[in-house]
Amino acid sequence: MRFLPNIIDGRERDSAGGLFDSIDPWTRTAWARAPRSGRDDVDAAVGAARRAADRGPWPRMGSAERGALLHALADLVVRDGGLLAEADTSDVGRPLAAVRDHDVPRAARNFRFFADHARLGTAERYPSDAGFHTYSRHEPAGVVAAVSPWNYPLMLASWKIAPALAWGNAVVLKPAEQSPGSVTRLAALALEAGFPPGVLNVVHGHGRAGAGEHLVGHPGVDRVTFTGSSTTGRAVATAAAANLTPVSMELGGKGAALVFADADLDVAVDRAAEAAFGNAGQMCLAGSRILVAREVFDVVVERLAEAAASRATGDPRDPATAVGPLATAEHHAKVVGHLDRAAADGWTAIGAGHDDRFVRPTLLLGGATGSEVWREEVFGPVATVTAFDSEDEAVALAGDTRYGLNAVVFTTDVARAHRVAGKLGVGTVWVNCFFVRDLRAPFGGAGSSGIGREGGSYSRDFFTEPKTVTIAVPG
Ligand code: NAD
Repeated sequence: MRFLPNIIDGRERDSAGGLFDSIDPWTRTAWARAPRSGRDDVDAAVGAARRAADRGPWPRMGSAERGALLHALADLVVRDGGLLAEADTSDVGRPLAAVRDHDVPRAARNFRFFADHARLGTAERYPSDAGFHTYSRHEPAGVVAAVSPWNYPLMLASWKIAPALAWGNAVVLKPAEQSPGSVTRLAALALEAGFPPGVLNVVHGHGRAGAGEHLVGHPGVDRVTFTGSSTTGRAVATAAAANLTPVSMELGGKGAALVFADADLDVAVDRAAEAAFGNAGQMCLAGSRILVAREVFDVVVERLAEAAASRATGDPRDPATAVGPLATAEHHAKVVGHLDRAAADGWTAIGAGHDDRFVRPTLLLGGATGSEVWREEVFGPVATVTAFDSEDEAVALAGDTRYGLNAVVFTTDVARAHRVAGKLGVGTVWVNCFFVRDLRAPFGGAGSSGIGREGGSYSRDFFTEPKTVTIAVPG
């Protein structure tokens, strides 16, 4: 059994609160143990981050020196990619090959991208206007609290940590209790790379009434960046509001995939299946409501059913496995509950089936759009398929949700692509592709899917305190 310590002020720490287990969802055994941190541990981590932010070398280094350390960390992430992947697979059952070949390179890219973005960034200048020269500076915000979810543990934690560090902040990360593994190693790698103590701290533990709640409501925190469910997001925003701490929220989704009759159906079926079933549907970005033009409905359903059936479920360490076990027994029960209630609500399942670890990729047809499975985030490999008769109806169906994270559009008509993208009330629209990320572009959601955007200069604006300097220049 592995022990995964807290990392506070550059040292490994346990907690007076005892330990909790991380259960491997494939073997159903505990593979690691981490501290059940409480208020004292959070105080210690925020204190260490405060010292690093106020008196340490990190914010005072030039962006080139910080960037070099972030690149060194990226190199170590690549070096230890296999171990990082093994940790995420053990924690949540995400297929090992997917973590190793996708999430690990993407985590390394996050560190490299934000290191370079900060180093090459410029600020506004308003030179010599009526005898005054004005310019802006982006000062580090200070101490950043980052709370991350379990569905892509390494990748999503690095998406928060990298920009916060690149702009000179110190970070306290509280990973999801389901996935303590990879970020513990990441914090150790940061120390190996030469990061000063206290710059990147990891505190394990639970959310509500635990380390997460203490952290986001801590008065010593200057920014809260949170990724998780919309319900938790409300609690986090409320706690942060007590200190007027700015929040950035990446929350849940109920994305639509719109397949128009003019789409290249090979592309549409391939990408829509990935959007629905990738990572066993445990994606905020899941295209879990597939909308299909009536002219091509039957053929698309038939081909989606084939694509669903062809995704092998099994051991996440087997390279042939496309769909691993759901992340926890509790989550498995939740997804199965959704399927049972969807059946009661009149949805007919194609490809359904589950055992005590898996839910097989499932299409649901024929139910009403107001029902629970249409409205709620299932977070499993389950997608409804609904026919539409016009572009306007497709857009209206896509918008029939309180979420607004993303949508996927399949069409070969360029004008339609632009028109529909403009009408969809979401943060990201992918056309004939899925999950492609330009890290300079804004990422985030409308409605219940979030507050604010991260990515490129959007991350800079959140993780810094912009300041205006005006200097009198007498003529
Ligand atoms: P969750 O909301 O249950 O937990 C997320 C994190 O918040 C965990 O670290 C948890 O310990 C912590 N937490 C829980 N209660 C807290 C509280 N009161 N105060 C502070 N922290 C608290 O979410 P999850 O089940 O880990 O992740 C799945 C959810 O995350 C889904 O809704 C998914 O859509 C969303 N998500 C969104 C994005 C995005 O970019 N928009 C990305 C991935 C996941």
